[in-house]
Amino acid sequence: MSVYSKLYEGKAKILYATDDPEILLADFKDDATAFNAQKRGSILGKGRINCSISSQLFQQLEASGIKTHYIDSPSPNQMRVKAVKILPLEVVIRNIAAGSLCQQTGIELGTVLKQPLVEFYYKNDQLGDPLLTSDRLLLMELATVEQVNAITHLALQINDFLKVFWQRCGITLVDFKLEFGLDSQQQLLLADEISPDTCRLWNTTETDPNRRVLDKDRFRRDLGNVEDAYQEVLQRVLQAVEIKS
Ligand code: UDP
Repeated sequence: MSVYSKLYEGKAKILYATDDPEILLADFKDDATAFNAQKRGSILGKGRINCSISSQLFQQLEASGIKTHYIDSPSPNQMRVKAVKILPLEVVIRNIAAGSLCQQTGIELGTVLKQPLVEFYYKNDQLGDPLLTSDRLLLMELATVEQVNAITHLALQINDFLKVFWQRCGITLVDFKLEFGLDSQQQLLLADEISPDTCRLWNTTETDPNRRVLDKDRFRRDLGNVEDAYQEVLQRVLQAVEIKS
């Protein structure tokens, strides 16, 4: 398939048009940013690793009945996806307290939540992706009530599935971020990526608060061995997928 113009370049991916208007090509980059792009760097091999992990997870989720934008992966750092209009929402699901939840509430890092917490943030870099209330979300017409209900239901379903999947990898799913989009039929699809860039993943058998971190917090907090951690996550995902099939 011939590749046409660059449609959009984000912090972690470049989106290209293809000869089919319903299909886009996502090119995963090694560039890494944190704290609303105030911290910038590069993680060697990240594009290939995140694309591979996301591809495997999207395929697993599809097999469990969750509709995603994933079509296939023509090369290790490229994914063909269904064209969707991304809703300007970052949907965060939390199982264990970490990151901004601890900073903003005082809940202690590592506290296991009695039930998963689903939160909506406004995807807007200029405003620093603020946490939304349901009323603000509706006031701003970022999604309809029906869409919010459908997204919440899907987010919890995805969390149930991923918790078990990551458990099989010896990894504890602390929290993660999802994005959703609408296809040409207004169907809600899981989009973007699911990777160590967008999830907090802790090595289950490791208790040391720094050594257990297998995700972007290694980059955010300068913990070192970032590439090794990402590669380790990919190895475990591939192993878990192989055992299952
Ligand atoms: N997250 C993300 N993109 C963002 C913000 C958060 O992928 O722009 C992910 C983050 O990696 C973590 C979860 O969402 O897995 C919750 O992040 P949190 O709100 O704690 O913010 P942070 O502490 O990462 O700034």
